[in-house]
Amino acid sequence: MNLLRPARVLLLGAPGAGKGTQTSRLLKRFDLAALSSGDLLRRNIAEQTALGLKASAIIKQGGLLPDDVMVDVVSSELRALGWLGGDRSWLLDGFPRTRGQAQQLDAVLAATASQLNFVVQLKVPEEVILERIENRFVHVPSGRVYNLTYNPPKEAGKDDVTGEPLSRRPDDDPVTFRKRLAEYKALTEPLLEYYSRQAGVVFSVEGETSDIIYPQLEAEFVRRFT
Ligand code: ATP
Ligand code: MG
Repeated sequence: MNLLRPARVLLLGAPGAGKGTQTSRLLKRFDLAALSSGDLLRRNIAEQTALGLKASAIIKQGGLLPDDVMVDVVSSELRALGWLGGDRSWLLDGFPRTRGQAQQLDAVLAATASQLNFVVQLKVPEEVILERIENRFVHVPSGRVYNLTYNPPKEAGKDDVTGEPLSRRPDDDPVTFRKRLAEYKALTEPLLEYYSRQAGVVFSVEGETSDIIYPQLEAEFVRRFT
């Protein structure tokens, strides 16, 4: 669906809240592109770039990369994608996730009059999230996510589109996952307050499954941008 005005979206939610799932559904429906900082880092790890080597140790332990590194990587990606300035619609998943990142991103976006205009909070109960993570598999090259319970691949262990092997994320083990959840609460959740200073930008949507959340998100997207 074409949009009446550019959507510049940030998707916020705990790890495992379904940011990747909501993103792929939105992309099917709207003329929109997405960038996931976690996918970007995992691709760098797979390709063994300098950034990937740095990221892999930090990610395995459930830590966060330094703000400056993330701002540099994502800003150059935004530039390369042609998303700064112009009238493209896009969505960010996983970045910014600290106040420092948000402030630096805001400066980059403001310089090209491309400020975020829709910040979505996905709220999912913690028990649901923990159960989900135990069953999660990913296709690293594309970032496609599968869940053995909710959306299993057509053929076990293989990506639906390419047939390539799926893998578990090393940071999805229970101990590391708890740490990521704690980091989210301490560092990322405060961004809701940060962005709520811009009137009407933040939208919260709650539900136990992606099927419950998606229609609400889609309706709000339609209301705002079409
Ligand atoms: P999920 O993909 O389950 O929603 P998540 O949001 O925790 O969970 P990703 O966004 O895929 O996971 O990120 C994976 C890891 O990559 C993070 O735990 C962190 O180590 C690193 N990372 C990704 N984005 C950032 C960022 N903006 N700042 C710092 N580190 C990041
Ligand atoms: Mg993700």
